[in-house]
Amino acid sequence: MKKQFAVIGLGNFGFYLATELFKKGHEVLGIDINPKMVQEIRDWVSRAVIADATDPQALKELELKKMDAVVICIGSILNNSILATLNVKDLGVKRVVAKAVSEAHGRILRKIGADEIYFPEKDLALTAAQRLDNPNVLDYLPFMEGYSIVQLAPPSSFTGKSLIQLDLINRLGIQVIAIKELVPENVVLIPTGHFVVKESDVLILLGPDDALNGLQET
Ligand code: ADP
Repeated sequence: MKKQFAVIGLGNFGFYLATELFKKGHEVLGIDINPKMVQEIRDWVSRAVIADATDPQALKELELKKMDAVVICIGSILNNSILATLNVKDLGVKRVVAKAVSEAHGRILRKIGADEIYFPEKDLALTAAQRLDNPNVLDYLPFMEGYSIVQLAPPSSFTGKSLIQLDLINRLGIQVIAIKELVPENVVLIPTGHFVVKESDVLILLGPDDALNGLQET
């Protein structure tokens, strides 16, 4: 369903976020104080305007209240990030999301009422560390303390074996949630024990981090 988003601050993060949401078919308003940034994004979003988000009046005129979400992507100038978030909150926007560059920045944004906080650098660093540590891990989502969901390219010791033979659940406490087959493209949700793993499959697993980390080529 088509949604309406506003993205404030069109630096690296804001630019990619706004243009990607627009590519996905949503209505996107891009806002930046710097005319150059607004000019650059103009053809890639629904509308782009020059405005100072620290000025409540300027934001009021943009009718942000009707948006499904407003994302504040100002990182480097802390003062502006905080004031912009406060202003957007004061307008009564239903979902206020803000980018933080540090834990302290995130704590402040949460205190002033941001509904969600993104830590892009920290999140990417964790994913990058996970991939470097275990090249079989294609994607990784922390699930709860000590547990993750990973997309895994099966180590060669897995291929040609059935899930019963691998017995990941009893040996390692790892649940196979789904398997993506590439040829032909198909997703098998909660596969049965008879599923035989192919080299080209991608396994989606939920389990303890230690056990997941152990699943790699040796
Ligand atoms: P990134 O690391 O994602 O590039 P930056 O913090 O460097 O993030 O970029 C933030 C963007 O926010 C810049 O394009 C800057 O012009 C814009 N910005 C900064 N202050 C304001 C403000 N008061 N109102 C609107 N946009 C702002």
